[in-house]
Amino acid sequence: MNGQVEQAEIGVIGGSGFYSFLDDVTEVSVETPYGPPSDSLFLGETAGRRVAFVPRHGRRHHLPPHRINYRANLWALRSVGVRQVIAPCAVGGLQPKYGPGTLLVPDQLVDRTKGRRQTYFDGEPLPDGSVPHIIHVTFADPYCETGRQASLKAARGFGWEPVDGGTMCVVEGPRFSTRAESRWHAEQGWAVVGMTGHPEAVLARELELCYSSLALVTDLDAGAETGEGVSHEEVLRVFGENVGRLRQVLFDAVAKLPANAERTCGCGRALGGQDPGIALP
Ligand SMILES: [Zn+2]
Repeated sequence: MNGQVEQAEIGVIGGSGFYSFLDDVTEVSVETPYGPPSDSLFLGETAGRRVAFVPRHGRRHHLPPHRINYRANLWALRSVGVRQVIAPCAVGGLQPKYGPGTLLVPDQLVDRTKGRRQTYFDGEPLPDGSVPHIIHVTFADPYCETGRQASLKAARGFGWEPVDGGTMCVVEGPRFSTRAESRWHAEQGWAVVGMTGHPEAVLARELELCYSSLALVTDLDAGAETGEGVSHEEVLRVFGENVGRLRQVLFDAVAKLPANAERTCGCGRALGGQDPGIALP
């Protein structure tokens, strides 16, 4: 812990709709070698677990998906003690059976983003002069299975039958897909499409954090619906209608996670003992 006091054990990357209901929320501003995170971290407690929230798009929702400093967000979470992350996000359904209101816990990911900084191990020196080594992490299974199971169990407990598994396609945005792109994504058998699930997942892996996603379908993507296509208003409306129960599921999933020291998954050994060349916070 580098002599640091542990302030949180679990991280959540999601909007103010999630943390504003906690008691005694403490706002903590965190600096990182990669610049500022999307916003302050908001630390609070639920079910006896210390949780750090980072509003992915900033508290004023001013950051589009391609401008989020994903490296700073994950680094900041780790620097306050977080070792397990649950990341709720809004997605489009690529299959007609995954309509608005579907809750899906993905088990695979396809990266269709471009130009995002998606590694800490790029050989560029940090401000302290240390230079990261080149490391290729294993990413065959991009999500922590323990985290996935916690979310699935939590959703079932609230009578919201989740979809267990499926591939999340992550596009660059901020525009939505064309019908041709969307049909192509659907024909690959992919389940949902979003804009923020990558590089979040791989950066968490590089920092040896557990990471899983909780995807709420807010609309059918252009290739799966027959109307005018996705609108931002529709996304916001469906998200607003579901944010209450999504928060319940999220908090219960947090409560179901193991203590950091008792994790049995391999996420905490993702670097396989290799020297990263830089000091992880
Ligand atoms: Zn894990």
